[in-house]
Amino acid sequence: MRRKWLRAAMLAGAVIALPGSDVSGYRFFNSNTDLPPAAPADAVRWDESVWAPGTTLTWVVAADPGWTAPWTDETGAERQPPLASPDQVVPYVAQALEAWSAIESADIRWEVSGVDADLDHAERGDGQPTIFVDPEAERGSYAGIRMERVGETWKVVDCDVPLAPFAAAAVATEPWWTFVLIHEFGHCLGLLHAGAYPRIDEGRGQDLRGAFGIDPLMSYGSFYGDLVHLALDDHTGASLLRPAPGWRGTVGGIAGVVTVQDDPAPFVQVFAIRLSDGIDRGAVGSFTNEEGAFLLAGLEPGRYLLWAGPLNVVYAHGDLFARGPALDVSEWALMRPVIVRPGGTTDGIEIVLSPARRGSNVTQ
Ligand SMILES: [Zn+2]
Repeated sequence: MRRKWLRAAMLAGAVIALPGSDVSGYRFFNSNTDLPPAAPADAVRWDESVWAPGTTLTWVVAADPGWTAPWTDETGAERQPPLASPDQVVPYVAQALEAWSAIESADIRWEVSGVDADLDHAERGDGQPTIFVDPEAERGSYAGIRMERVGETWKVVDCDVPLAPFAAAAVATEPWWTFVLIHEFGHCLGLLHAGAYPRIDEGRGQDLRGAFGIDPLMSYGSFYGDLVHLALDDHTGASLLRPAPGWRGTVGGIAGVVTVQDDPAPFVQVFAIRLSDGIDRGAVGSFTNEEGAFLLAGLEPGRYLLWAGPLNVVYAHGDLFARGPALDVSEWALMRPVIVRPGGTTDGIEIVLSPARRGSNVTQ
């Protein structure tokens, strides 16, 4: 049986052909090929023998000796144990899981049962999602997603998420690490990195804020205030992967093509910005495929403005960057609202970008 083991935080680099000319919204792991992100229909989902719709996935915290052992920091100094007991990490894991299970339009039932005294590390691929300690986790954490080939498609069969000792030591005092757990659990669901909203420079140098509100938690954007706030984009991606019963029939989509100088504009961001009376309107994003085609799915009925532009946090999208995204293009906004109706896709939208010097907001 073919297997693959992905560290989502480090997913990067493979260059392979895209299948066919399907319109795709690139935000999910692809179930048909090894790496290119996929539209909702082709997304990798959990094997139903492990986590079927309507059932609950139970996480455990391994009784990993690393939780309570001295550790060596990056300077070589020996540090006190991260925790007095592995039980101390359980509430933060529970909070991070609840951020996703609270989404009403999604069927995400998962919980953490506590510390499993019989498990001192994560067994990759055992179907038991596990929180453990990995001193090698350079960024503090990652999602260790295990996929197996089931027939013609890849399925997720396991996901283990570690904390490095320095992250475990800070989880109780720095909300950032709960935020990181939420992000890694999003990868476990099957979400790739979302696009970050176009940047607004607030006059503090590199301190840039997303133009449509708080950036998606699955992006490498900027975050303010309430760290556990999931954006509309996060809600939509999770709901497309594990929809609540009946939800798909209540939402619609927008599809079209993006070009620059009569050529397809590959791997640019397209956001649908919801028009409403609220201040935090939110936006749902996707990416064009190699042929410039895009699909924005899971949109509540209503009126949307469209915005398109280059990837602005390139290092979040190694998989797209390796395949030659259009970066030297202008931003663009369609100010004529597009109507989305339930159960349908408003197709045929054409977006023509102009060549432009790479924006100063592009971070590589
Ligand atoms: Zn990530």
